[in-house]
Amino acid sequence: MADYKIPKNFGGIMVLDASCTAHYLLKELFQNYPSLKEQKKCIKCNYDETISYPIIHAHLPTENLNFMLDILKSSYKENNLTCTNCNEILIKTVIASEHLIIEPILPTNTKKFNNNASLKLSEIPSTLHIFQKIYFLRGLISFIAPSSTHKDAVGHYVSFNFRDTNNNWERYDDLLNSVRNVRPSTVVHNCQIITYTL
Ligand SMILES: [Zn+2]
Repeated sequence: MADYKIPKNFGGIMVLDASCTAHYLLKELFQNYPSLKEQKKCIKCNYDETISYPIIHAHLPTENLNFMLDILKSSYKENNLTCTNCNEILIKTVIASEHLIIEPILPTNTKKFNNNASLKLSEIPSTLHIFQKIYFLRGLISFIAPSSTHKDAVGHYVSFNFRDTNNNWERYDDLLNSVRNVRPSTVVHNCQIITYTL
């Protein structure tokens, strides 16, 4: 897994090996297009470090998204640190891209891998005012865990996509023949990723 390659074929068509987690695939796909970059620069010595975050994490204090915006703001904020080389001021700047891929980590998620953490679609913030930008909700990825505990058992991913032109939610599941419209009151289990774009 460590040497994940994305081969580019004729016309730039990419064939992806999806026998991995959505989290892993997103991390690899967006390595060069991260949601956020944190740049740390010392005002005195040459220390200059950039950390890329393809996925940003929201460690939530409650079993809902009420504090997601506050948590993201405090986790990825610009501030001044102290340079470990020369003890001078290290300035941390945050560069946000056109998209935010967010992994919401609810208190139950930290306890076990397959959790029962649930989110109601209508309770997901439709906009995020953060990093001096306004981001719009686009959708989420939910994981359906395998019913068997066998080590080769595989789960299944479905996505829920938000159409902000008509406030409509659609459920995409490649085991079904068509896209389904779903109510905003739908509760999504095991929501692993939420995406926003400008
Ligand atoms: Zn320094």
